[in-house]
Amino acid sequence: MRTHYTWLFMIVVTFVISFWLSLFNPALAFIPDRSYYEKRGDIVWEVPTEKKWIALTFDDGPDPTYTPEILDILKEYHAKATFFVIGKHILEHPNLVQREVMEGHDIENHTFSHIRLQQMTNETFLKDIKMADKTIDQFQPYRVKLFRPPGGALNLNEDIIEALKENHMEIVLWSWHQDTNDWKRPGASRIAQHVIKNAHNGDIVILHDAGGDRSQTVNALKQILPELEKQGYQFVTVSNLLRTCPKYQFLFQQENPLSPAPSK
Ligand SMILES: [Zn+2]
Repeated sequence: MRTHYTWLFMIVVTFVISFWLSLFNPALAFIPDRSYYEKRGDIVWEVPTEKKWIALTFDDGPDPTYTPEILDILKEYHAKATFFVIGKHILEHPNLVQREVMEGHDIENHTFSHIRLQQMTNETFLKDIKMADKTIDQFQPYRVKLFRPPGGALNLNEDIIEALKENHMEIVLWSWHQDTNDWKRPGASRIAQHVIKNAHNGDIVILHDAGGDRSQTVNALKQILPELEKQGYQFVTVSNLLRTCPKYQFLFQQENPLSPAPSK
């Protein structure tokens, strides 16, 4: 009988200790997923609309080789896009950013040095974002409104989200069915087919114009643009998608009245 109680006692003690330890184990901590943010409305993945509009976005640029090639193709099809640029790359290639702005594209924030929040304090991360803002603001007549975190990290913490909100910045990721994985270089046709096959009104498509060999992305665009144009789609900036939605009007009320947003 005594042995019986000893075993029971040991089981209870083990259970209590495991439960106690789990409270302090970060691996078991709450990690918010898309549905959590969807309910809160903190992150934009796509913008449902009646219009046949799609927003192409390009991360990590500008790049001296691929950005001009991409701009040439966009021009050919009268397509407007959103470039989530890295601040330090702007300083290296200011002429490319000027060209992006002059040709009616949007330049938005992808941090100054492509750092991830997991590698630093909130303060350093916010400082890096602000530095990118300041750099970008020199190039366009209206302030930066959108932020895309490197790695698209969904686990941005509450303080960062609140700080961005206070600064009237919206976090923009991409439609889950429009993650092209172009950076893995699966082949130009595969990238193109992924976008074409999944195209819906209000999609936000993620592509990259820098960070390695992006010739597949360039060649994919040569297939995506004519095909979706044939299907009646128009390519607009993420800002223009957001302008169709009353919920996001606050972003544009902050625009400098002396420099109205260009019609695009
Ligand atoms: Zn990136």
